[in-house]
This record gives sequence, C-alpha cells and structure tokens, in this order.
Amino acid sequence: MSPRTRTRRLRGIGVSDGIAIGRAVVIARREGEVFRIPIPEEEIEQEVERLRSACEETKRGIQRTRNSAGQLFGQELAAIFDAHQLMLGDRSFITEIERRIRRDRVNAEWAVHESSLELTRKFALIDDEYLRERGQDLEDVSRQLLRTLQGISQHEVSEVAGDVILVADDIVPSEAIRLGRANVVGFVIEAGGRTSHTSIIARSLGIPAVAGVEGITGMVTNEDPIVVDGREGLVVLHPGPETLAKYSGERAAEKSLEAATAPAEREEVLVTRDGAEVELLANIDLPEEIGEFVASGAHGIGLYRSEFLYMETDPHLPTEEDHLRIYRQLIEAAAPYPATIRTYDLGGRKLAREMMESAEENPVLGLRGIRLTLARPQIFRIQLRALLRAGLHGNLWIMGPLVSRVEEIRELRAALAEVAAELERDGVPFGREPRIGIMIEVPAAAVIADILAREVDFFAIGTNDLIQYSLAVDRNNRQVAHLYEPLHPAILRMLRSVIASGRAAGIPVSLCGEMGGDERYLPVLLGLGLRRFSVHPRAVARLRKLASRCDADALAPIADSCCDLATAGEVEKYLRSRPVTALLQREAK
Ligand code: PEP
Ligand code: MG
Repeated sequence: MSPRTRTRRLRGIGVSDGIAIGRAVVIARREGEVFRIPIPEEEIEQEVERLRSACEETKRGIQRTRNSAGQLFGQELAAIFDAHQLMLGDRSFITEIERRIRRDRVNAEWAVHESSLELTRKFALIDDEYLRERGQDLEDVSRQLLRTLQGISQHEVSEVAGDVILVADDIVPSEAIRLGRANVVGFVIEAGGRTSHTSIIARSLGIPAVAGVEGITGMVTNEDPIVVDGREGLVVLHPGPETLAKYSGERAAEKSLEAATAPAEREEVLVTRDGAEVELLANIDLPEEIGEFVASGAHGIGLYRSEFLYMETDPHLPTEEDHLRIYRQLIEAAAPYPATIRTYDLGGRKLAREMMESAEENPVLGLRGIRLTLARPQIFRIQLRALLRAGLHGNLWIMGPLVSRVEEIRELRAALAEVAAELERDGVPFGREPRIGIMIEVPAAAVIADILAREVDFFAIGTNDLIQYSLAVDRNNRQVAHLYEPLHPAILRMLRSVIASGRAAGIPVSLCGEMGGDERYLPVLLGLGLRRFSVHPRAVARLRKLASRCDADALAPIADSCCDLATAGEVEKYLRSRPVTALLQREAK
C-alpha cells in the first residue's frame, strides 16, 4: 500500500452527528503561498487558457458581489466593483500576465503574482493620490484572480459522481447551504468549532461534520475515499474493507433508528420530577427543517435565523413576498405556540465575505445584527412590513439580534411603528400585537439585563455569541477552540443574573445558543433557573426525556456553587462528583 493510500485516522471536533461515507472534494480557499512552477513548452497555451477562464470566472464573481453591494450599500460602493471588473477586462493588464507565462514559461499563479507586484510598485510612485489609490484596487483584483486560480470552481463538486465529502480549510455558511443541498454528504473543515455558523448549518441539514482538522486539505486529494464520524469527531482517510463495513453498518443502524422514531406528542407539557414546568422550543435555519420541527413536538419556534433567507436569494435581496411566504409558513407550523423570528443578523461571517472584508477590519465587532439593519432603514423596512403582515397568521414574536444598548430597542420599536402606520395608510392588513424581544448575546446587554427587561417582552440568551464576546474567543477559530468554555464561571454568573432579571420583570427568558441543546449542560442550566430552551428539532426528544428525570430544586444550590468555583475544569469536576448531576451526565454521553 502506498503512503498516499494508507488508512489514516484524524481527530477533530465532532460538530454534527452521524456517519458519512464518500469521496473527497477538496476546497482550499485561504490564499496559499504562490510557487513558481516551470511549464513545458507544449503546455504554455493551455496555461494561458487557464488564466483566461479564471479571469472570466472572477469577473462573474465580482458581478455577483457588485449586485449585492449595490442593493445593500448603494451605488457608490458598488462602483468599486465596476472598477475591478474593468481592470480584469483591461487587455494591457491581462496581456502582461500572458506575456510572462509565455516568456518565463511559468504557471499562471506566479505570473499574476509577479505582474501585480511590479504594477503596484509603479502605482506607489505616482504623485496623484487618486491614481496611487488605484494600486490597491489592482492588488485586490490580483488577489481575487489568484484565489480563483488556486481554488476549485463550484461545478467540480457536482462533477464528482455519488456521495461527496467536502474537505475545506474554511467555508462560509452560505456556501455550506449551497453545497449541503447538492450531493455533499459530509463536511471536514480545518477551521471552526461547534458554534460556528457553518457547523450549525451542517446540523440543520443533518450532514455529519468534523471541524478543526488541522492540515487536512494538504493530505487529501480529490476522489480519495473518506469516512466522517461526526459524533466521535473522527475522520478516516482511505478506510480499509473492515473499517468500511463497520461504518456502513453503523450508518444503516442510524438511518433505521431515524425512520422508527415516532413523532412526539405536542400537547404534553414537560415537567421535571419535582414538578417544575419546562418549555422546549426549536431553532430553525432552513425551510427543510419545518417538517422535523413539527414532528419533534416542540412548543413553538424559539429562533428563526432570518438572515439565511438572504443567503438563499443572494445576490438578490429577498422581496417582501419572499419574507412573507417563509414567515407565514413558520407561524402556521408553530401555532398556537409562538414563532420567534429574529430580524436579519447579517454581518460578521454571515454575509458574502468579499462584501465585508474590504469594508471592515474586524467585522464580528462591526456593523452586524441590529446595528446593520437600523443603519439600512430602506432594507429593514421590507423585512418589518413582511413581519407585521405575517403576524396576522398566528403567534408572532419579533426578536432583535446583537442588542447592546437600550436605544436600539427604542429604534426598533419606532421602525415598527412607522411601518405599521404605513400599512394602515395603504389599507394592508397586519397583525397588531407581535411581542418584541431581544437576544442577550453581548456582555453589556447581560450586565444591564434588568434595565433592558423593562423595554421588551422577552429575552433569548444567545450563548454562542455571549461566550465568544465575554471570553474574547472567536467561535470560529480552531486555535482557541479549547478556550471556548460554556462552563466558565463568568458565563454561569452572567446566565444566572440574566435569568433572574427576566424572572423579576416577569418576562420569558429562553436560551437558544448551542449550549442549550447540549445535554451535558442541562443540569446546570436548570439549576440556574432556566425553564425555556430552544434547541435543534432533533435534540428535543432527548432533552425532554432527560429533563423529566431532573429535580430542579435540588439542582439550584449545585448551580450556585458552580458560580463560586474558579475554573470551568473545577465546575465540570464538581458536577461529576454530585450524584444528582453525575447520573444525568453519564446518560447524556
Ligand atoms: C447565539 O449567538 O447564541 C445565537 C443563537 O445566534 P447565532 O448563533 O446566530 O449568532
Ligand atoms: Mg448570535
């Protein structure tokens, strides 16, 4: 057996359960180093052709970005992309690169790299400031062209027959949706952790995924056979016949278990062993989850991430009717329970990457969530109109993401009032009394939860971001994934105080981050006073079973003691040592 086809087992972080078996398609999108590769005489024209088609593909990509940018940020910003397209169409720029390929007999990447260096040096010497700045555009275009040359194009995924395991250094959520709906059956990603949006999408689509697998894109080539074990966080390259048989058996068992699971009774109220009522709601990202949600028996939708609607219609913004269609579907599926629809949480990584990258140095701390929508009233208005209209069809709860200030709630309410007046004037019917709430996912909001509670009808705690921002740990960064600690005493204290503030104000407090669906944290969350969980539809049944065995009163002093411990490790150990939580933790495994 050659070293390249020897069976290898690689460990990562299991981020979406299940077994997948298929053939690899490798997408390495981060810019790699550019190497000079000599090209034989007879292949020169082929290399020139490769450059030309990369130019065309890059132009198409820029056009897509331009359309979105025009709609979201106005024509002035979109003009930047016109300049990029013009450069790619400029014969002198492309001819120079072609000349290098022919003259130096080198690969297209090297020729782009060298030509761009030379030209940017020349631009830097120009006196005229405007022209000098065009050097940056040139660099930008060259970088995009290089990416196209280095990456693989979209159609290659569909070119591989049968089941595809996508192996990537990093993929943004919109790509994960697109690829997950094609013939991709498993994801293996170098970046990321459990709460990255790409991982969340993998779970939404029910696709097994392992993240944080260092260097895998360099070890695998297209068409290599691979097994992904999402529960164990394991990837097997070139599995032998025995390994394949083992995993095929496990996969078949999983499928028959899924088929045999009966839909849950929706009416049943969940009570803990000592009689505390607990509400279980579901998180929904994609329309294909609505069926699963109904079957789960969850009492409503605790989070619909509406920004994923934008990603589906990208490069066009969803119309009012697009919004209305999905919102109505959700509200009707959830009735009589609430459907909580979060207004766009775009920005950060949840936007065409090209769009924010050039505009913001640190997009996760930038124009994201409610800040972005309040800054783009003409786009927000479309979403708010659709929301109010959809409110006619059931129990609508509207939720603002990434709130950090009271003013944002007031502005959201004012925007809603304005849209309501407009609908009234136009004689368009709409629901008059949606509940208005916010995500608690910024530390500042957690600290002033008692003040915010006076302004809203409900809270939903977003631990994915609350942990990221409180611990200063990027939820998508593999290198600090070990520092992403839901049991950090700072997080537990914050949760305790937010839950108490909500309770004192008499408003519902749910938790809709990934922590809520992770059974290991159930005892401590119940102990902190949480009585409303919003989790993935597939997690509902299990959580229901475990919660019904808990004794909420006995868990309260245990959770309190956890808040006084020094480290997440100590908290974990302490929880394991208490008979009442140890039992649940063992079962949760
Ligand atoms: C969260 O931050 O916990 C949350 C639910 O929102 P998202 O994962 O979409 O950022
Ligand atoms: Mg969030």
